[in-house]
Amino acid sequence: MHYPEPISKLIEGFMKLPGIGPKTAGRLAFYVLKMKEDDVLDLAKALVNAKRNLTYCTVCSNITDHDPCRICKDQSRDQSTICVVQDPKDIIAMERTKEYEGLYHVLHGAISPMDGIGPEDIKITELLKRLEDERVQELILATNPTIEGEATSMYISRLVKPFGLKVTRIAHGLPVGGDLEYADEVTLTKALEGRREL
Ligand code: ZN
Repeated sequence: MHYPEPISKLIEGFMKLPGIGPKTAGRLAFYVLKMKEDDVLDLAKALVNAKRNLTYCTVCSNITDHDPCRICKDQSRDQSTICVVQDPKDIIAMERTKEYEGLYHVLHGAISPMDGIGPEDIKITELLKRLEDERVQELILATNPTIEGEATSMYISRLVKPFGLKVTRIAHGLPVGGDLEYADEVTLTKALEGRREL
């Protein structure tokens, strides 16, 4: 049996999202049919707006609607510390702890030779450029506690040696193999406090 074309188009659309197979896509598509028209319109507008109005901060590579982003522009933040994360979502997790007042740098991924992702495929060059600013004293490596995250931290810590900075790695209260964005505030705060020098 074939669905009418508008529905199969919607299902195909949902299937382009990560982690969504045909079954879930079908469920979502039929759910949309049952939604109020206003809600569907709001959702459609939110999708288009997010794509059109968001860009990447030219300083830290975070997603933002203003460049430089709110955090980079905030002079009351500690300009001497940069926390390096894999994903923009990790910044949200770190900010929730309300413990960290420094700056961030988003790598947009981690080094993973298995997936063909090398150092040049993530925002490492951009990070090195920022280290030329003499105000930067400490680099906190807060990549995920996965093999890729560890490898990326090791790589960066070796690479930045010549800058003579304090380089720290957040502690492992974090579940190994987990994502930073899913860590609760307490775990993340402890991990930050217990960071060790590399
Ligand atoms: Zn920024």
